[in-house]
Amino acid sequence: MDYLPLFLDLKNKSCLVIGGGPVACRKIELLLRAGAQVTCLSESFCDRLAALPGEEKNLKLDQGSWDEWQDEYARLSILVAATDNEPLNAEIAKLASEKNVLCNVVSDARDSSFIFPAIVDRNPVIAAVSSGGNAPVLTRLLRGRLEAAIPSAFGSLANLATQFRSEVKTRLSNITQRRAFWEKAFSGTIAELVFTGKQKLAEVALEKELTKWESQDASGEVYLVGAGPGDPDLLTFKALRLMQQADVVLYDALVSKEILDLVKRDAELVYVGKRRSNHALPQEDINQLLVTYAQKGKRVLRLKGGDPFIFGRGGEEIDSLMELGIAFQVVPGITAASGCSAYSGIPLTHRDHAQSVRFITGHLKAGAGDLDLPWQEFLHENQTLVFYMGLNGLAIICNNLIKQGRAKETPIALVERGTTVHQKVHTGTLESMPEYVKSREIHAPTLIIIGNVVTLHRKLAWYSVDQFE
Ligand code: SAH
Repeated sequence: MDYLPLFLDLKNKSCLVIGGGPVACRKIELLLRAGAQVTCLSESFCDRLAALPGEEKNLKLDQGSWDEWQDEYARLSILVAATDNEPLNAEIAKLASEKNVLCNVVSDARDSSFIFPAIVDRNPVIAAVSSGGNAPVLTRLLRGRLEAAIPSAFGSLANLATQFRSEVKTRLSNITQRRAFWEKAFSGTIAELVFTGKQKLAEVALEKELTKWESQDASGEVYLVGAGPGDPDLLTFKALRLMQQADVVLYDALVSKEILDLVKRDAELVYVGKRRSNHALPQEDINQLLVTYAQKGKRVLRLKGGDPFIFGRGGEEIDSLMELGIAFQVVPGITAASGCSAYSGIPLTHRDHAQSVRFITGHLKAGAGDLDLPWQEFLHENQTLVFYMGLNGLAIICNNLIKQGRAKETPIALVERGTTVHQKVHTGTLESMPEYVKSREIHAPTLIIIGNVVTLHRKLAWYSVDQFE
């Protein structure tokens, strides 16, 4: 991080702005909005600036020379160098740095000890955006989006929270429950009432909601959420929303770091991942953990790669919750087959090549040298086969299919780390692929796609990762 955003309390603090043009004026208006006492030092002042002082008792326009001010630096909170003379700005900044005064040079972020961010003001809620002076246009674009996305009465919502804060604290003693209460209040009907200016009705609704929550027991909830195959953009809105409100997150090896970064910052992260033949936590322990956290009143997010109900043991995890009457929700995710198919340009069905598709586990039980599968059902030429967890059993899969009667020329693709910037697609035939992988370093996770649809990859591959390499 190049700059740390901080929010300064400038009420009644002395600030000096050197320069009297429109740029200086914009900074002055901001400082005045924050309640600062501003002196503007310049030989001349632009019209807008000259029009300000009558109304703004906190602003002084001074036509003195800047070096007369040097002895005053020590009592300044902020100095802004906004002249159109760049060497002079640099000189001012140098002096400010010697005197340890926070200084912004409007024309040069590098000479500044702080920069003014783009601001979205919904006082008391303020969003500040900055590109560290690198891409002001990008910053403005983002600010525009935020302006559009944050209702103008957003600040009133914060005021409502201030008004009820201690009341809610007294009546809901459990912190997890309190958080959940505020999240509900800030996103539902109460918020809508505030946004439409119905403050009094919002207060009544909040009071009513509070009474309801008071009488509920503070038991938690479990969210069983599919995180998709890797690309964070493939998360669902619902997944993202629950990720941002959970108190505890239990996640697997398949959940990428980029996705975990989207979880609420103060959530407790618990790794319960399973890697092949190296079970970090037995399934029963995971089931039990979900129960324990939920019974403590926590909102527990069980985040799983892909879809929780496709080779995700999601059913087992909610079984015990069901028995104990613990509330839960299941959120589907994009399964590896869909993700890898789309990102490799291999449609799983196609009018000319495949009328059905089958998802199969290729997981070899520890120590077992074979796969106990209904091979006879996999022989139809127009059926695409997708093997999950199949890399270690790849040779067994290919050999069995050939032995049982599927043509040895049948195309096969191995999609490595699909949908991520590391994605690689290896193609071959049932006959060639086992040899091929022996001489390559292949990274997990990988998905195997078998069938004539694989030939489409050559034509339809669109997702290029070269740009990242
Ligand atoms: N519930 C998950 C599957 C879990 S089983 C889902 O719906 O996708 C784990 C297997 O999924 C891996 O062995 C691999 O075969 C497959 N897989 C998951 N993510 C993948 C990815 N990004 N690229 C390729 N295969 C993936």
